[in-house]
Amino acid sequence: MAEVTMDKIISLCRRRGFIFQSSEIYGGLNGAYDYGPMGVQLKNKIRDQWWKEMTRRQENIVGLDASILMASKVWEASGHVSNFTDPMVDCKQCKSRFRADQIDLNAPCPVCGTKGSFTAPRNFNLMFETHIGADRDASSVIYLRPETAQGIYVDFRNVVASSRVKIPFGICQVGKSFRNEITTKNFIFRSCEFEQMEMQFFCKPGTDEQWFPYWREQRMKFYIERLGIIPEHLRWHQHGPDELAFYAKDAYDIQFLFPMGWQELEGVHSRTDYDLTQHSKFSGKEQNYLDPDTNERYIPYVVETSAGLTRNVLMALSDAYEEQALPDGDVRTVLHFHPEIAPVTVAVLPLVKKDGLAEYAKDLEKGLREDFDTDYDQSGAIGRRYRRQDEVGTPYCVTVDYDTLKDHTVTLRFRDSMEQVRIPESEIANTIKKANKEYRRV
Ligand code: ATP
Repeated sequence: MAEVTMDKIISLCRRRGFIFQSSEIYGGLNGAYDYGPMGVQLKNKIRDQWWKEMTRRQENIVGLDASILMASKVWEASGHVSNFTDPMVDCKQCKSRFRADQIDLNAPCPVCGTKGSFTAPRNFNLMFETHIGADRDASSVIYLRPETAQGIYVDFRNVVASSRVKIPFGICQVGKSFRNEITTKNFIFRSCEFEQMEMQFFCKPGTDEQWFPYWREQRMKFYIERLGIIPEHLRWHQHGPDELAFYAKDAYDIQFLFPMGWQELEGVHSRTDYDLTQHSKFSGKEQNYLDPDTNERYIPYVVETSAGLTRNVLMALSDAYEEQALPDGDVRTVLHFHPEIAPVTVAVLPLVKKDGLAEYAKDLEKGLREDFDTDYDQSGAIGRRYRRQDEVGTPYCVTVDYDTLKDHTVTLRFRDSMEQVRIPESEIANTIKKANKEYRRV
């Protein structure tokens, strides 16, 4: 099988409207990307699967959508103002910039090959700073949030007071985060503006030891069962003592085999009562919990699941991509997305444009839009149209031909097997729904 490279994925994303470089006509802005018609569908569908998983399939989890702009004190309390830094070095020769923890400082510069050319490492805060209000002075400085989690901590008491949640319970949130990353290579893997899907699970101190393995298991299952990721492309990495945050009890990353190698996709962290304790200290308001059954008051422990949504998009694309050699010697590029996250679920294609076939097919497509994301395509040979749909990962194609006009049957084609079946048009929706439920990656 042909190798899946980042260049191939980038090229397909651009060609088929998944992802574009931001501000491309002005030379592009590093670390920022635009999601095109296909990309936004894929991203939204992954997000919807995650949201459904958290708020419906799991018990006791409620949603939140906190503001991106928050009081600066939040980031002082969380430690981001003083500690959210990466060590940065520059090559004095070619001016390339690197994260000091990602390269060997004694080796030659990876870009220009000069030896001993690095500056001393200096710490660089990753938060984007801006000002709120008309005065641009120290008192008006605020930050674009570098993670969504703090919004959840800061609203912990509001959620407890306004809903009937009882510990153990979780609060989940999806939204944009911003980090002024020093190196932004590898496409959307590490960008300055990205989206996170985070869940903070609040539990009684001590019970975190049961919840931590529970959440690890649930998160891995989500990727395999809900997003259809190949299990061999996922693995665990436990944080060693040098990686573990000082307050964390334990931390594991789910890693995915990206085209550039194994890299973090999601973190599952046992964070103790650190964040709520910090916010109690900095706000002067106790962020604790009163158990209504025992009258016990305590600061809950937190198990966090923290995933990158945009990084999930890159995973889905890399995992799905295949250049498949066909028996006739041809090669087709196909994206084997799980049908629930495919940008288009069903494409309707008239065999030819004339003799009323196009009108019939358009009508049929309109009816299917109630249930599915559809596409309609009448241009070019039917084989080429199937290939176009394969390339964006459309799991089902419906072809309308002359027999359809007579007996209202259509050809339903499956993306992965390329198998074709003849079914009455009234059965299309149910057949697709059933096939979606039974979908297994082959
Ligand atoms: P790293 O050490 O690689 O910079 P991190 O360990 O700081 O990342 P977290 O703060 O744990 O990452 O963020 C949780 C998740 O958010 C990550 O697993 C990743 O999926 C996503 N994420 C973090 N930073 C970025 C980024 N710059 N671009 C895209 N996704 C990101």
